[in-house]
Amino acid sequence: MEIIVMGCGTSQGVPLVAHDNAGLDLKNPRNWRTRTSVHVMICGHHVQVDAAPEFRLQCLHNQIPRVDSFILTHGHADHILGMDDLRQFCTNQDGAPIPVYTTTWGTDRIQAIFPYALQVKRSFGYVALDVSLMPKKLTLPGGGTIEHVPLPHGTEDTLGLVFTDPHSGSKFAYYTDCRELTPEAYALGHRADLAILDGLRPARHPTHMSFDEACQASLKLDAKQTLITHMTYQIDYDVYTKKLAETYPKVGLCYDGLRIKLP
Ligand SMILES: [Zn+2]
Ligand SMILES: [Zn+2]
Repeated sequence: MEIIVMGCGTSQGVPLVAHDNAGLDLKNPRNWRTRTSVHVMICGHHVQVDAAPEFRLQCLHNQIPRVDSFILTHGHADHILGMDDLRQFCTNQDGAPIPVYTTTWGTDRIQAIFPYALQVKRSFGYVALDVSLMPKKLTLPGGGTIEHVPLPHGTEDTLGLVFTDPHSGSKFAYYTDCRELTPEAYALGHRADLAILDGLRPARHPTHMSFDEACQASLKLDAKQTLITHMTYQIDYDVYTKKLAETYPKVGLCYDGLRIKLP
């Protein structure tokens, strides 16, 4: 399994527009964060999780060749607005729609924003989406599986995802955009080889885990390695990497373009 961090910034991106971004070293490219998403290659299948407003540029920078399945974790703008740029991936598979898995809320949002992409049987040059509710366990061609748990994120839930390679047994938990991890989320992601957790900023927030809450959650989850995502400008890469080395040695920060290979 290979995971590409396409983006790891909060909903406005980092640095902020028209803001002094105090404390953030703008000379460090790891502090330039596009909106949060990951691309997962599992047993030969390419899964794109969310499409940020910068999705097209993220695909170019990371040389993404295919999207075989798409998962929308929830319907917020920073996760859905890039979906129109799935169009070339449809064209490249003979115009067939991309299978999309999401929540009821995600389905409603797709219908509201991209009505032209639904019920299209074949599409060249435009996007076509075949939307279904995310099943409890999705088995992909090649044998990889994705299980999900609902994660609390304000008025609606986010899909918390756990990918498993049945051949090697490697496990990846992707828990973005959540106020906390539920007992079910801890159980499903327990001792994952890699966990990526929402850790927005130093201060508490009503719908996201704070940086410290994410670090605490990582201890309970007991993953081999944990990386923090969906970060604001208040998290400087070098400053926080140094802090983590002293306090939570198994936790690090995501950065755009980071690739992690699991056995
Ligand atoms: Zn978000
Ligand atoms: Zn959100």
